[in-house]
Amino acid sequence: MPFSLHGIGVSRGYAIGRTYLLQRNQPEITEYTIPDAIVEDEVQRFLSGLNLARQQLRDIRLRIPATAPGDISAFIDTHLLMLEDASFTETPVKLIRSLKCNAEWALKMQRDSLVQVFEEMDDPYLRTRKDDVEHVVRRVQRILVAEDPAYLNDPDYSELTSTRLEGRIIVADDLTPADTILMQHQGVLAFVTEYGGPLSHTAILARSLGIPAVVGARNARTYLGHDEPVIVDGRQGVILVGLDERILRYYRHKQQEERRQQRELNKLKGKPAITRDGATIGLFANIELPEDAVAVRDVAADGVGLYRTEFLFMNRPDVPDEEEHLASYLHVIKILEGSPVTIRTADLGADKQVDGGRGGPVCTNPALGLRAIRLCLKDLAMFRPQLRAILRASAYGPVRMMIPMLCSIQEVFQVLRLVAETKQELSERGLAFDERLPVGGMIEIPAAAVCATQFARYLDFLSIGTNDLIQYTLAIDRVDDEINYLYDPLHPAVLMLIRNTIRAGQRAGIPVSLCGEMAGDPRYTRLLLGLGLNQFSMHPTGLLEIKRIIQDSDVGELTDVVRRLLRTTDAEKYAETVKTIAQN
Ligand code: PEP
Ligand code: MG
Repeated sequence: MPFSLHGIGVSRGYAIGRTYLLQRNQPEITEYTIPDAIVEDEVQRFLSGLNLARQQLRDIRLRIPATAPGDISAFIDTHLLMLEDASFTETPVKLIRSLKCNAEWALKMQRDSLVQVFEEMDDPYLRTRKDDVEHVVRRVQRILVAEDPAYLNDPDYSELTSTRLEGRIIVADDLTPADTILMQHQGVLAFVTEYGGPLSHTAILARSLGIPAVVGARNARTYLGHDEPVIVDGRQGVILVGLDERILRYYRHKQQEERRQQRELNKLKGKPAITRDGATIGLFANIELPEDAVAVRDVAADGVGLYRTEFLFMNRPDVPDEEEHLASYLHVIKILEGSPVTIRTADLGADKQVDGGRGGPVCTNPALGLRAIRLCLKDLAMFRPQLRAILRASAYGPVRMMIPMLCSIQEVFQVLRLVAETKQELSERGLAFDERLPVGGMIEIPAAAVCATQFARYLDFLSIGTNDLIQYTLAIDRVDDEINYLYDPLHPAVLMLIRNTIRAGQRAGIPVSLCGEMAGDPRYTRLLLGLGLNQFSMHPTGLLEIKRIIQDSDVGELTDVVRRLLRTTDAEKYAETVKTIAQN
């Protein structure tokens, strides 16, 4: 009987093929007491396990071909770094010694406390990074409980590199970056995982590799048989089972159609994004890791509109110094060969502590607490090295500096003063920088959007962060599943704030871009054009599709439609018009 399973579609595309069920379960960990006399032997057993895990990952790292997306090696490096970190090398050892417990149990206790820290983070990306902890712990646990602890290869090595995976749809509980590397040459058609969200490793890596994927398909391995013919719809997040000829015909047709569309989109690389009525639109990309710049260059984006530098601060007990910041920025500048790079200063804080005491006590409402620019202005020892590095990087290419979470104009004045001081300091050190480094701000708090004219007067550019702007305008926690249905980018209040910000920029004669998820969502492109937006910044994979919509649009017409839309008080008419704008 035909039926369908539902998850979250995280990497578009359709796959038709047979399943391959990866039945790997987490080893059962129990606690037992270690006699005093052999506690040190237990510590050694733990340290050898860590060592072996590191060797396995280094071994896997060597298999990464030079052509693989940067995400992959970055994830493996992250896991290696974690295995070097005191939270893995020291804390479990202390637990073994003080509790006289077995190594697996000590590691489990440490895992539980680390996962809890990640789960409390309000940033969805950082929250998802608890996967890294899980993956690293699982690797070490498997080694510790393995029958042959000297076994160097990944325990899953032979299965994941087997030619039996060719042309198969992999169904697993979860996939680690290492799994993905091992499978990358096996001609896998799609991934389905029971866990994970849009920001999980499987999602990010599948998108980088261009493989359709559905994550969060709970109990998929219970309902799907091994070697069962299925269809994976990575756009809708559906897995279809019990296929008949009609369904197969329909999806084969969709596959062909998609390939044709992708070929057409590829032709747009390097072509300008000009609307039917002649407006030129800037298309920029968002990046998280320096390696992501390769994807930006590959789609020939106009530059980087948002470089989230928080990732430099992750998985480490200390904060990055000036040279580390500089090295990352120069990496991006070099790859982008002369295109502008907008570096956002650290958007950390509150629950996202960068080390023990920094950022003050964890507050009850982290999204409204000491974060982003508020934290940087309070912790100048952390902020100044980043400012120096951004300025120094500006000597090597067109760099722009962007401040997150602006709320009060006083914050702008403080930052500008710090920039002036930093310039003075660098001059005294005889270091080069761009004297006219543009300093812009993110408009993501409603107060800043309402007063955008003030910000536009003192800043060189604005960028609208709709992810946060929507959350603060509608009082909807952007990571709370319970109320996610209320998170509405089309709410008239949100659109009015976007329009207000764009207008403020126009009046002041400075560029305004939008770098929240809305910018890369094809449903909102025309609406944003109609609101007057002429710079978009998004994940590089979505850029060509947005370009196609732009080339098909008429800004003049859309401006009239959107103007009428925002005057509408009739809720039904409003919803109807919004739908029409999205579809036409
Ligand atoms: C935003 O808030 O829209 C944004 C781009 O910043 P982040 O998602 O990093 O908070
Ligand atoms: Mg934000």
